[in-house]
Amino acid sequence: MCPVRYPSAMRRLVNELSKLPSIGEKSAVRLAYHLISTDERDVGLLASSISGCRESIRFCNTCYFLAESQKCEICSDPSRDESKVCVVEKPADVIAIERSGGYDGVYHVLHGLWSPLRGVGPSNTKVQELLERASLKHGTDSPISEVVVATGTTVEGDATALYIATALSEMGIETFRIAQGLPKGGELEFADDVTLTHAIQGRRRL
Ligand SMILES: [Zn+2]
Repeated sequence: MCPVRYPSAMRRLVNELSKLPSIGEKSAVRLAYHLISTDERDVGLLASSISGCRESIRFCNTCYFLAESQKCEICSDPSRDESKVCVVEKPADVIAIERSGGYDGVYHVLHGLWSPLRGVGPSNTKVQELLERASLKHGTDSPISEVVVATGTTVEGDATALYIATALSEMGIETFRIAQGLPKGGELEFADDVTLTHAIQGRRRL
């Protein structure tokens, strides 16, 4: 006897939901059940906010954080100290540091880390854009006097930090490494606010 199967529209929904990070098939089925029993207007709002977000969100031309125009909110904020740049792996790290409230500089999001073992080189990240920004090739930014590399304390995070420090030292820019308080192998995104604040304040020279 053929087992009972979900209707094809439900199967398509479960299939799409299970492609999301951290969502296995069981969670996808649970979410799908929730959606089919939710008010139609709310489901419509969810669907339009997903497609609207995809259409309107882009990366900032300067720091590669999320933006709705050429510059993100942080780069457009005149109260931020543009001479200090905090380098992170991904946009979620910016959110984590901002939430901790202990940093008043600007950022540079790499969108990846240098990982020789996995064949990922500096050109697969926004490292070159950071070096161009630091050497003022874009010609619009204030001079950068200090860079804090706040990549996670993993092998890839350390390798990326060393690569950046070596390249920036040739330009005479001081480079520091976030470290203190973060466990070895630690991901910034999941660190608590106090640990992050101490990690940035307790940075060491590279
Ligand atoms: Zn920006």
